[in-house]
Amino acid sequence: MLDRKANRMASSLRFIGSGNAFCPPGRFHSCVVLDETVLIDAPPTILPQLHAAGISSAAITDLMITHWHGDHVFGLPFLLLERRFITDRDGVERLRIHLKASGVERMKSICELAFPGTLLPVIEERVEWVVNDVGEVGQWSYERFPVFHTPATEPHGYMLRDSNGFTLLHTGDSGPCETIDQRRPEADAVILEMGVPDGAEFPHHHRPTDIARVAEADSKRTFLITHSYASGAGVPIGFKMPALPPNAIQVEDGQKYHLEPGNVTLDD
Ligand SMILES: [Zn+2]
Ligand SMILES: [Zn+2]
Repeated sequence: MLDRKANRMASSLRFIGSGNAFCPPGRFHSCVVLDETVLIDAPPTILPQLHAAGISSAAITDLMITHWHGDHVFGLPFLLLERRFITDRDGVERLRIHLKASGVERMKSICELAFPGTLLPVIEERVEWVVNDVGEVGQWSYERFPVFHTPATEPHGYMLRDSNGFTLLHTGDSGPCETIDQRRPEADAVILEMGVPDGAEFPHHHRPTDIARVAEADSKRTFLITHSYASGAGVPIGFKMPALPPNAIQVEDGQKYHLEPGNVTLDD
């Protein structure tokens, strides 16, 4: 009997940015693309980030938003602008934007502030707002859940499961919290932010010691560390990358990972 499952394509996860809000040297703002089509967050420099990855803005079918900080959403006007005037002039493609309902007016405001009079009609014609806390993107189903970050930004993470059964826990921006701990045991891989160095007192972010504690206690799981305060590998200026347990991988801009149940491999 044909094993239909074996014929399914493994999912992919591409980091087109891995830095925190300050864009440390060698890193763009944190951002991932699933299966080359689903964006999680849209940083201000989303266009150069997509260009560097060789992904057309018109190929993005879905944008999932974690919270309202500028390093996560200020790229939306540029994404829509490039689709409208360069990559999808005929308006063939629709963009589904997944977010809390309270963010719809906020996203429209950002677009109107950025390009007055231009983008609201584009949104009207080409954007579909998806506000439920459970849904689907491509071959993934997801659940959105609250995390621990600046409350005014309505911070959330996403628990995503693909058709092969791979489970990805994307925790957005968050300090350590119960809602992440509850979901972690079910995940094949966990994307965690490391926004501040040790010694800093910002409970809404993970520090290296927080990452080390969770990764050491859960040594079989892969932790992909992004939204980093540290400079990119080999960059001589800025904060140095800290030492972390081997299952806590400090990702670099441009890296692409293949995702199969129980297995996360770097494409090189
Ligand atoms: Zn951030
Ligand atoms: Zn944030």
